Amino acid sequence: MNKREWFIDNEIDMVALGERLGLVHAAHSEAAIVFLEGDLGAGKTTLSRGILRAFGHSGSVKSPTYTLVEAYELPERHVYHFDLYRLGDPEELEYLGIRDYFDDHSISLIEWPARGAGYLPSPDWWLQVTVEGVGRRISVEAKTAKGRLLLQNLQAEK
Ligand code: ADP
Ligand code: MG
Repeated sequence: MNKREWFIDNEIDMVALGERLGLVHAAHSEAAIVFLEGDLGAGKTTLSRGILRAFGHSGSVKSPTYTLVEAYELPERHVYHFDLYRLGDPEELEYLGIRDYFDDHSISLIEWPARGAGYLPSPDWWLQVTVEGVGRRISVEAKTAKGRLLLQNLQAEK
């Protein structure tokens, strides 16, 4: 299976799901690119907070709306959290030195990836968050062999 879905109706469980997703990445020593798609307020940053928690970051996670990227240089891994909502032109990513972020060890979480089209690597995981009633529908689709392996590892745990 290349896809998984959940329905989560509160913020605490949303962070917990993010942490579960993050843990399979933390257990795997390779780099990964994760796209997070969904409307404003869908819960992309909330999920990212959980993913960061899996890497040992317990503090707050602010949306890098104006800075475009926030770097978390954690003991085990560097995690880069992008929010491209305010990116005017994808070409601006070149000036930001975007390529340097996608090294062999880091995890990149990218909100609003469509705004960076043409300047981003293809994702290992494509995450979508949609508002559904009082909660959110979250889906994860694996887009690469590495992404499929990570998703299998997620399935294997309880
Ligand atoms: P985004 O990054 O997609 O713009 P945020 O994560 O910043 O969204 O904000 C989402 C808002 O929705 C927050 O107020 C959060 O408390 C709430 N929220 C997040 N996940 C859920 C959920 N699964 N069910 C209900 N509310 C949620
Ligand atoms: Mg956000």
